Amino acid sequence: MTEAFLVIATAAVIAVGDEVLNGETINTNAAYLARELNKRGVRMAYHHTVGDRREAIAEAVRAAILAVDLVLVVGGLGPTHDDVTAEAVGVALGRPLEWSPLVDSWIRARHGTGPGREASIRRQSTVLQGADLLRNPRGTAPGQRVQVNSTWVVLLPGPPREMQAIFETHLAPWLAEFGQAPVVRDTWVSYEWGESAVAHLIGPLVNGQHPQVGLYASPGVVEIRLEGRGDLPDRRSLAVERAGAWLEGRFPGRLDHHERTAPRAEWIVTRLKAQGWRMAIMESLTGGLLAARIVDVPGASAVLPMAVVAYRDEAKVAMGVPEALLQREGAVSAAVAAAMARAIRERAGTEVGVSTTGFAGPEGGTERYPVGTYFVGVAVGDGVRVRRRQLGVERQGVRSGAVELALALLWETLEHPWATSPGEAQRSTG
Ligand code: ATP
Ligand code: MG
Repeated sequence: MTEAFLVIATAAVIAVGDEVLNGETINTNAAYLARELNKRGVRMAYHHTVGDRREAIAEAVRAAILAVDLVLVVGGLGPTHDDVTAEAVGVALGRPLEWSPLVDSWIRARHGTGPGREASIRRQSTVLQGADLLRNPRGTAPGQRVQVNSTWVVLLPGPPREMQAIFETHLAPWLAEFGQAPVVRDTWVSYEWGESAVAHLIGPLVNGQHPQVGLYASPGVVEIRLEGRGDLPDRRSLAVERAGAWLEGRFPGRLDHHERTAPRAEWIVTRLKAQGWRMAIMESLTGGLLAARIVDVPGASAVLPMAVVAYRDEAKVAMGVPEALLQREGAVSAAVAAAMARAIRERAGTEVGVSTTGFAGPEGGTERYPVGTYFVGVAVGDGVRVRRRQLGVERQGVRSGAVELALALLWETLEHPWATSPGEAQRSTG
């Protein structure tokens, strides 16, 4: 078998280091490597973390070479006695270490020599016999790459900037030679349905063979993530495209598409600008979170002259919400959400007014509207649209759910001003 027939389809990361194992350092190296390998068509099979112990490292490497095509051992290549990765991998592969004059010269070229440095230079230039040596542009420990039957084992230093530099300069071009179809990802987002409803609605997709479908839920947001091989000539994925077309045509309700659309806050700002409109916000429940999302977008001041947090009833009244209405309906109600949106629109003299109100918990709520209930309102001209939702999650979740719902309602309103679709929006007489 010649090298041309070798494929690298799967990989594992073995992170070495007590600090990673104990949670003092977050394993960002594994995340980086997984993303970079995925882009290049290599699927990450698993991450394994071990401490600075020879036996643990050797055992992890032995298991990995039986399981995947590429084993990345990261960390523990430093010059101190607790850096034992090279030794341990040597034991696992039955391959001795040897002193490399090449690595020795690299290290001296970088740091020069000096008293007390000899032992550590010696240690770091002792590498796996016969390994391809990958020069480190940002540090002393080089990468090392060896082949064991059909598996490649690559040793990389732990400091992220060094690891990444070696990946970019040596491993990325090397992987390109294997010519794998990349993994293509596509994300669709629903703000209207809960996780189990979405799971039910996309049943036909999940039952098909391709692509892989994953659901990721956070309060008020459910992401549908599609993943498939970029096997079309231009590296698009037939399976992912088909599933996307199905979602566009068949999914009941609105879906945001990450590839095609800008993030919603950005889209909203751009859209308002294009229409020559401005908006104002009155927030209760969300305490400024909604305004912060809009202000995150550069140039937001052109469309957002005013955003206030009117938390208690007095503040809502001061901003123009009728006191009698608050007393009659309660601050958490469709009528008050509508009145807040209208009041702030009028006060700021904008085309659009937006509001949020709700029970974040853990205390509070009424018989009619339990904790976790929230309302958002969007007023345009004389009209106002209100939407209600209830989430059984903790305080922060309810608040971010309300931000998502307000953005969704704004988005919808700007795209279809007052083309009310039955069942989802209600006109309030507030
Ligand atoms: P050094 O010569 O610095 O000891 P090394 O190759 O031995 O290099 P480690 O000792 O494993 O590398 O790690 C050095 C630093 O890199 C650690 O302080 C740690 O914060 C960071 N690091 C190590 N492993 C990871 C990881 N998996 N993810 C993120 N950072 C890491
Ligand atoms: Mg170290």
